[in-house]
Amino acid sequence: MRLDDVKQVDVVVVGAGNAAVCSALAAHDAGAKVVILEKAPEAERGGNSFFTAGATRFVFNNIGELREVLDVSIEEARTVDFGTYTEENFFDDMGRVTHYRCDPDLTEVLVRNSRRTLAWMKSKGVRFEAMYGRQAHKVGGTFKFFGGMVCAFWGGGAGLMEGLQEAAKKARIPVLYETSAQSLLYRGGRVRGVLAESGGEQAEIEAGAVVLACGGFESNAEMRARYLGPNWDLAKVRGTRFNTGGGLNMALGIGAMPCGHWSGAHAVGWDMNAPPFGDRIVGDGFQKHSYPFGIMVNANGERFVDEGADFRNYTYAKYGQDVLKQPGMFAWQVYDAKVAHLLRDEYRIKQVTKVEAGSIEELADRLEGVDAKRFLKTVSEYNEAVCRDIPFSTVVKDGRCTRGLEIPKSNWAETIDKPPFQAYAITCGITFSFGGVKVSPQAAVQSVSGRDIRGLYAAGEMVGGLFYFNYPSGTGLVSGAVFGRIAGTQAASHAKKAVNA
Ligand SMILES: Cc1cc2nc3c(=O)[nH]c(=O)nc-3n(C[C@H](O)[C@H](O)[C@H](O)COP(=O)(O)OP(=O)(O)OC[C@H]3O[C@@H](n4cnc5c(N)ncnc54)[C@H](O)[C@@H]3O)c2cc1C
Repeated sequence: MRLDDVKQVDVVVVGAGNAAVCSALAAHDAGAKVVILEKAPEAERGGNSFFTAGATRFVFNNIGELREVLDVSIEEARTVDFGTYTEENFFDDMGRVTHYRCDPDLTEVLVRNSRRTLAWMKSKGVRFEAMYGRQAHKVGGTFKFFGGMVCAFWGGGAGLMEGLQEAAKKARIPVLYETSAQSLLYRGGRVRGVLAESGGEQAEIEAGAVVLACGGFESNAEMRARYLGPNWDLAKVRGTRFNTGGGLNMALGIGAMPCGHWSGAHAVGWDMNAPPFGDRIVGDGFQKHSYPFGIMVNANGERFVDEGADFRNYTYAKYGQDVLKQPGMFAWQVYDAKVAHLLRDEYRIKQVTKVEAGSIEELADRLEGVDAKRFLKTVSEYNEAVCRDIPFSTVVKDGRCTRGLEIPKSNWAETIDKPPFQAYAITCGITFSFGGVKVSPQAAVQSVSGRDIRGLYAAGEMVGGLFYFNYPSGTGLVSGAVFGRIAGTQAASHAKKAVNA
């Protein structure tokens, strides 16, 4: 189908990532005629959602509730410690990591709908798998999960998007690739469609309602510098090159209320030599997330964060920004042989910036750009400060800390003294921007005067007010699905009323 063939529909969905396809499926279920517009070519489809590991967080109080999403065998139920993740846990995680700024109404929608939305996706053919490799460690022969997250979409982001695209195909929802929404048709106080562009041609598509689910501004260097600040234009982008803030600008352009942490973003430690945008083969393999088991040093040879402040799930999304602030915008992660077996799979990919050495002095010489003398002093002071009398355990916050250092390490402090030593060079990789538009719990976009903008809905990264400063891992996809599903249902209902009005 081409742009010319679509003149009028009930609901236009802008974007074809996770949030968008969930919106489209829900609108279709509610009886609407839907079209999806996607700026990327088909070969690069799936948005940021494609690049993810598919890790996802949701509430479950027992194995029965876990099974609504994840297929757990009888043997697994007997032998694996999946733990539980209660509503209180999810609320606490959202509150704690965002410094209690997350919008309480939107957070409630997210938390209370998390499991039922993933179960709905399962009913659409999307599958899930337990994250043994990343979220569990073996304790006495048994797998024990930690960090409040046990499962991922089967096949990661690629598998998730394949499942959703297949569901959209079954529902016969057309997707127009290489077609971007350029502006909203806003007349008589309501949104009546979009102006779209494809291959240099423009056309208006009339609709009863529009769902914007076309990502943040993370892939737009100018907007990053403008909103996030100096040097953010130089950050690497972990995912799609197509999330350039068009949806946000369109909505703000007709008076939508900006909302959330516009000077904040999710950003991680990312391989120093990764390409400027995501690589569809490597996916999230450029991330380097085992720092709780080692130390990170900057060009001055000094540590700059508490690597063991919390489980990786609750620190990784803010530490990218700390790396960006270091001289030269880079850091080295350093590990010794005692923890080598704990390094995640992403440390063993081919495209890795790594050095190894048989002695710490030799390693110091190999850390490019680092003050070697100061680095050796840092390691020696750190080793001295480790509380060796506290037992080391990876599945709990073990409290094995340092004492007396200006920048402490609060958990998993292990001396760095057993050769061979290895180090990995990282810089800042931005995942997505936190600033968005204000939406109601029904995903209706709010105007600066505090009312719903009639006919306009938003979901996914475009929703402002959920994340500030930081983010609990595995929340982006479930948030996109929850608000995407609501946006699609509400948009369909609005479109029906608009036709009958
Ligand atoms: C490397 C990486 C790993 C991640 N890992 C996880 C994880 O394990 N778990 C998790 O929960 N989250 C993870 N995230 C975060 C997660 O990807 C996002 O929060 C989520 O996918 C965003 O979904 P979305 O639908 O809002 O946006 P996207 O999936 O990015 O979709 C937006 C789509 O809109 C399209 N678009 C943009 N502008 C226009 C326009 N004007 N017209 C038409 N189309 C347009 C884009 O091309 C894109 O396809 C990760 C992100 C990255 C980059």
